[in-house]
Amino acid sequence: MTAPPSLPAPTVAGLARGLARGEYSSVELTQACLARIAAGQPALNAFVTVTGEAALAAAAAADAARASGRAGALTGVPIAHKDIFCTEGVKTTCGSKMLADFVSPYDATVVKGLKAAGTVMLGKLNMDEFAMGSSNETSFFGPVRNPWDPTKVPGGSSGGSAAAVAARLAPAATATDTGGSIRQPAALCGITGIKPTYGRVSRYGMIAFASSLDQAGLITVSAEDAALLLGPMSGFDPRDSTSVESAVPDYTATLGDSLEGLTIGLVREFFDKGLDGDCGQRVREAIAVYEELGAKVREVSCPNLPLSVPTYYVVAPAECSSNLARFDGVRFGHRCDSPRNLADLYCRSRGEGFGAEVKRRIMTGTYVLSAGYFDAYYLKAQRVRQLISADFARAFGECDLLLGPTAPTTAFGIGEKNDDPITMYLNDIYTIGANLAGLPAMSIPCGFAGGLPVGLQLIGPHFSEARMLNAAHRYQQETDWHLRVPSAWA
Ligand code: GLN
Repeated sequence: MTAPPSLPAPTVAGLARGLARGEYSSVELTQACLARIAAGQPALNAFVTVTGEAALAAAAAADAARASGRAGALTGVPIAHKDIFCTEGVKTTCGSKMLADFVSPYDATVVKGLKAAGTVMLGKLNMDEFAMGSSNETSFFGPVRNPWDPTKVPGGSSGGSAAAVAARLAPAATATDTGGSIRQPAALCGITGIKPTYGRVSRYGMIAFASSLDQAGLITVSAEDAALLLGPMSGFDPRDSTSVESAVPDYTATLGDSLEGLTIGLVREFFDKGLDGDCGQRVREAIAVYEELGAKVREVSCPNLPLSVPTYYVVAPAECSSNLARFDGVRFGHRCDSPRNLADLYCRSRGEGFGAEVKRRIMTGTYVLSAGYFDAYYLKAQRVRQLISADFARAFGECDLLLGPTAPTTAFGIGEKNDDPITMYLNDIYTIGANLAGLPAMSIPCGFAGGLPVGLQLIGPHFSEARMLNAAHRYQQETDWHLRVPSAWA
């Protein structure tokens, strides 16, 4: 395959500067992205829907806005949305047969915010079905492939977002993270991912998986790009009662601040025997960079953190079994042919519309919520969730940010873990804690092991996005791992 022409700058920040200086138009930039998407789709399967015509129309409108002096920082920058966000008049499938033909009548708040900021939507990105997965193999639309090695998974559930940004088909993408689905694919694809604090970004119009854990965020090349895009998608939304009423800072304002005096806690439980040796080594090398930047590093312990995977796999399926009850073949979504009666309509519509992993979660969730087992599983899991939150709160009494690996290994082979859901679930062992505690967290590239990218995870106290983004940005000023592009896509 010959790589299509590369984009005129590697980052959103660079592209925004080029647009502002008139070096190219948004239409030209959008055409370049569409050409890369067309070249990338057969190999990567990152997109479910490409909205080429609408993108070019939006780009022309952005160019016109700029010509008349009405351009903002992001006017005309092309991005793509995970197919979990409702987009008016455009298919929103959530990676499922259940919603394969669903056209949303409205935009999610995230989509609306980024549109209002002038970004141009290129299309909708492939994902694990209903965001359940760590490898993007559960999508009804087929697996996504890792641009660094197409025999490997890109991670999940935001695998389409990660693959598209890693191969530079789109300069940036939205994504969601319920247990690691932004950070883990960002790590496996060698790019930057941020999951904001629970409540920072509205969940309105984002198809629900596990409502107390779901949070929208971004997959970008750099932390600076994440800082530019996070503002317009954040803030209080009366349509989401869990969105928080507090002012959104300018996340770019503190980029470049010194890390002198910052205390970074290394979470002892993250450096366990499950961590691949080379991945651990890359993380230790990153720690040395932080020390050179003036940060103080100390070890901290979150003793209940090893319980995060079993806790999550009670809480998340419980919430999913309730959220997915609405897909019953009556109001929207897949409906079976000629149902004999109401029960048959429910059973066959759901049986045909959902894939195996989603069914596994619904059954687990229904079980843990059932009368005889509620106390033993669901209530117990909620208690452990509190203990994990308390561990983090204690750790943040001693340090400003926590640091560790994002995932235990680099990208694994497509099909390699399909027969063993527990091994698959263990991929999120380092990411799930932040979701259970509602904390903001990021993954940034910190090197390679066996030719595949390794991710470094940062976790901050609630609403410390600005501090975390700056810590990531300072590291990225000293290193260039985030700018590496797989050779086939350079
Ligand atoms: N891999 C985890 C799961 O399958 C997390 C998914 C997510 O964050 N959406 O539940």
